Amino acid sequence: MLHADEIMRVLTRRYREPAEAAKATPWKVLLFTALSARTRDTQTEPAFRRVITAYQTPAALSRAREADVARLLNTIGLYRSKARNIVALAKMLTTQYKGRVPKDMDALVALPAVGRKTASCVLAYAFGIPAIAVDTHVFRIANRLGWTKENTPEKTERALRARIPKRHWIRINKVMVPFGREICGRVPKCWMCPVAKWCDFSEKTRAPK
Ligand code: SF4
Repeated sequence: MLHADEIMRVLTRRYREPAEAAKATPWKVLLFTALSARTRDTQTEPAFRRVITAYQTPAALSRAREADVARLLNTIGLYRSKARNIVALAKMLTTQYKGRVPKDMDALVALPAVGRKTASCVLAYAFGIPAIAVDTHVFRIANRLGWTKENTPEKTERALRARIPKRHWIRINKVMVPFGREICGRVPKCWMCPVAKWCDFSEKTRAPK
């Protein structure tokens, strides 16, 4: 038994999303997610705000000089390549989609530096289309819970899509990121876990004495 309904009910109650996040536009979700690769959200947030304030639309960013964008991003990792990627992304959105973010997985993953995780975030959070964004937290936790037993994020996404009811897809990443940070991290705190009774993990940890 996967106990997806029980686990998602408990985690959704514990990790409610802020109202502001629910109002994000497709362009903001795409830009933020593209900038957040291998960077903590707390570091991504100020860099994202500087870029979105200077270049509010894909058209504006498509005309920017990479060096100017890189200067706005230089507090986060890989800032030069991220500057190059987001300018290329803005150019493609402007020339091929009239500055709009496409609503389609195949079109999204064809954009520069957009993988399935970023595309799934855009579909789920900006358009409300069921999609499962498998990042490091979802990958780790889904395997521990026994929802999947896969060795790559791509296979995990495929397995979750086959096994977890669609009504949960959008919220899986939303709740598992904070749950992974607070409790089910690299070394899990199983003794304080609200879903432990439904978890398959064979090496559950105990509270330190
Ligand atoms: S019991 Fe432990 S391994 Fe399982 S979900 Fe909870 S914290 Fe993670």
